[in-house]
Amino acid sequence: MAFPETRMRRLRRNESLRALVRETSLEPGDLIYPLFIRPGTGIRREVSSMPGVFNVSIDEAVREAKEAASLGLGGLLLFGLPETKDEQGTGAWDDDGIVQQGLRALKQSAASKKLVLIADVCLCEYTSHGHCGTIAKSGDDFVVENDPTLDLLARAAASLARAGADIVAPSDMMDGRVGAIRRALDQQGSADTPILSYASKFASAFYGPFREAADSAPQFGDRKTYQMDGANLREALREIDLDLAEGADMILMKPAMPYLDVVRAARERTGVPIGAYQVSGEYSMLVAAFEKGWLDRDRAILESLLGIRRAGADFAVTYFAKEAAKLLG
Ligand SMILES: [Zn+2]
Repeated sequence: MAFPETRMRRLRRNESLRALVRETSLEPGDLIYPLFIRPGTGIRREVSSMPGVFNVSIDEAVREAKEAASLGLGGLLLFGLPETKDEQGTGAWDDDGIVQQGLRALKQSAASKKLVLIADVCLCEYTSHGHCGTIAKSGDDFVVENDPTLDLLARAAASLARAGADIVAPSDMMDGRVGAIRRALDQQGSADTPILSYASKFASAFYGPFREAADSAPQFGDRKTYQMDGANLREALREIDLDLAEGADMILMKPAMPYLDVVRAARERTGVPIGAYQVSGEYSMLVAAFEKGWLDRDRAILESLLGIRRAGADFAVTYFAKEAAKLLG
């Protein structure tokens, strides 16, 4: 049947009808809020390229967790800014590292029982060179080493699990790290700690503001030898297959908006839970447009997140999480 028997507009006539036939839902529980934890007390330092996003000390992180829990958010994704950095990134697996301390404090708060605490696993926030693995240099050339990095990532994940992480989330893109982390977790009795792997993480210009937020910009070179080429969808699916074969329980896709087709393809490929990370550059470019009065803030925030859900993601990591939850009421 076609027009005039069929009139698509009949089901759009008012909000009640539109709500009844809405295909995709967006709930506060679908949203994960990233937190950058730094040393000190009473510190909230705004990231200049991400207005409204702060680096916070542990006491402030606990306050953030209370607010996140009261808004019904799904959880927090924790990153750390250590006091000192070195070539190996030892702060990543220090049991007294900044995120480990933060996890212990958060676990003591009532709010944490309503939140999933996800700990990012990587070295780049802790290495003096800012790369996600150890470096082998020869003259002016350098290589980010894969296999020697695996042991360090596994140690970091094990330490974060001991400190109370509900989920560990490796974001480094080294080959074989999911398997190495799974073995380390199992060996120390953390067999029940799930792994959320950044299965397809693309080398992207949209990470720029995060590197200021996490103080993790590479001091030389770029990350194209380990993060994926943005042109490759089939390769992303191979990455997902490999991470699942190594024991990933869930996968995270990053960035979101320029790669929603990859999220959709992943959804069709696997039944495991999928998250998508609306990364710093996606946030900052929207906020910049809001500040200029070029976009309706409330509508654009929700539309950007709904698009991620519609593409097939079960949850979204987003700097708008608290604001979106308030809008969703
Ligand atoms: Zn990294």
